[in-house]
Amino acid sequence: MKTSLIIAIDGPSGAGKSSSSRQLAARLGYRYIDTGALYRVIGLLAWERHISLDDSKGLVALCRDLPLRFISESTNVRVLLGERDITAAIRQPEVSQMASKVSAQPAVRQALLTLQRQMGQDGGVVLEGRDIGTVVFPDADVKFFLDASPEERGRRRHDELQQQGVTTTLDATLREMAERDQRDSERAHAPLRRAEDAIVVDSTTLSLDEVVHLLLQHVSAVRKC
Ligand code: C5P
Repeated sequence: MKTSLIIAIDGPSGAGKSSSSRQLAARLGYRYIDTGALYRVIGLLAWERHISLDDSKGLVALCRDLPLRFISESTNVRVLLGERDITAAIRQPEVSQMASKVSAQPAVRQALLTLQRQMGQDGGVVLEGRDIGTVVFPDADVKFFLDASPEERGRRRHDELQQQGVTTTLDATLREMAERDQRDSERAHAPLRRAEDAIVVDSTTLSLDEVVHLLLQHVSAVRKC
């Protein structure tokens, strides 16, 4: 029986990666690593400190020695930067766009690549992102590509934003998501794409429980190999 697997979950925004990755990790007793949060932190800091996207040295400096902590709570993960709770700040729509823009900078990707590999190398982890199965851990034990129709993804993202108290319309959310997905898929370095050996899960008509059940079935099959 294989233990301490590395499980990669990639896919576009709103496909249900966060909730299902978190639940999968909890069910397996694994650590959950939200790699998007790393890009969001760099996006937030670049935005607040007016660091230009052309300033790769300035952006890389932000990635160094980040005093970042993820604190798991029952249904949530709090993100602390030093003593500052940035859980809500990194989810703002402006920060989503900034995260996607800084993530297209090769120097930022390189700096965060090392950090992500250090975080996941011991296994017993579920890593969620855009390039986990293709670049960060191309030899991951199990790879999933989670997708859903654009309408469903937009609706989910809009509900999530409303729950977080962000006032926005469904149309604006759909536009913002399409823009970000296009940028993430078309960038030159580590674009969003499915790894050839990834298991595709379309969550459009599935409940969260059904998605987690499906993921667990695939993981169990690999563990028995
Ligand atoms: O997953 P989340 O929506 O929080 O990610 C925010 C942004 O970070 C994405 O739109 C993408 O540009 C970037 N990202 C990335 N590679 C990852 C995870 C996130 O480029 N592995």
